[in-house]
Amino acid sequence: MRIDVLTIFPDMVRDFAGRSLLGKARERGLIEVQVHDLRSAATDPHRSVDDMPFGGGAGMVLMAEPIFATVEAVRPPRPLFLLGPGGRRLDQGVARELAALDGFSLLCGRYEGVDERVRAHLVDGELSIGDYVLSGGEVAAMVVLEAVSRLLPGVMGNATSADDESFSAGLLEYPQYTRPAELRGWSVPEVLRSGDHARVARWRRARALARTLEARPDLIVARGPLSAEDRRALREHGEEATEVAIDSLLAVGTGASTPASTASRQES
Ligand code: SAH
Repeated sequence: MRIDVLTIFPDMVRDFAGRSLLGKARERGLIEVQVHDLRSAATDPHRSVDDMPFGGGAGMVLMAEPIFATVEAVRPPRPLFLLGPGGRRLDQGVARELAALDGFSLLCGRYEGVDERVRAHLVDGELSIGDYVLSGGEVAAMVVLEAVSRLLPGVMGNATSADDESFSAGLLEYPQYTRPAELRGWSVPEVLRSGDHARVARWRRARALARTLEARPDLIVARGPLSAEDRRALREHGEEATEVAIDSLLAVGTGASTPASTASRQES
C-alpha cells in the first residue's frame, strides 16, 4: 500500500508518519508514505502558493497551478482525495475501503480553501474527518493515515487486535484493564482473572452491548436484532435490563409492536 500526501507543510506530515506504529510499519515495508511539498512547484521567487479570492472576501485561496504541477510531476497513486469539510465523512467503514486499495493520495488544503478547478478537474473525490472546520488538511490527512494503516495486515502487533476493536462488530469495544488488579479500592472484574476464556468472551460481549447501548444507541439500531449468543452473554452477566432495552429500542425503530414497546407507549 502506498499513500502520498500533498501539502505545504511536508515536515508536519513526515514527522508524524515516522513515528509509532506507522513509522514501524514503514520501516518494515508494510506501507509506503510519500510526502510532497506543494511549494516546490511554485514558480516565483517567494514560492507563493496562495492568492486573493476573485470576487473579494477574507483570506487567501490555495492556487490551482502548483497543485496541478505537483500532481503531474509526481503522479501520486489514484484515487486522489482532497481533504475538506464537504467531503465524504470518514468512518471505520470508509477506512476499511481505503485499506483495501493498493494506494491513494491525499491533498491538504489551507487558507480559505483550494481553487475550485482542483476539485472539479484534478481530484477523484473529497474526504472529511467530521463536521467542523480545521485550518488545514494536514491533521485530517494524519487521521486518515492512522486509521487506514492500522487496518493493513501485519501493522498491528497482534493480528487479531483490530478485529475486536470499536466498530468492527458494529459495537464499541468492551472495557480494558491492566495491572494492578486493585487500585484505590476499585478492582478488576473477577471474570477477567478467571482464566475461563469463553466466559471472558461472553462478559466482553455483554459489556460491549451495554456500553454501546448507553453511548451510541444508533450503532445498536444499525446492527439489528440480538443474536442467540448476545442474549446468552447478557443473561449470564446480569444484563437482562440491557437485553430488554435493546429489544424495545429495535421494536420502536421498526414500528413493530412488542410488549415492551407497547408498555412504553402507554406510559408516555
Ligand atoms: N473555507 C472553507 C474551509 C477551509 S479550511 C470552508 O468553509 O469550507 C482549510 C483547509 O482545511 C481545507 O481546504 C481542507 O483541506 C482542510 N479542512 C478543514 N476542515 C476539514 C475537515 N473537517 N475535514 C478535512 N479537511 C478539512
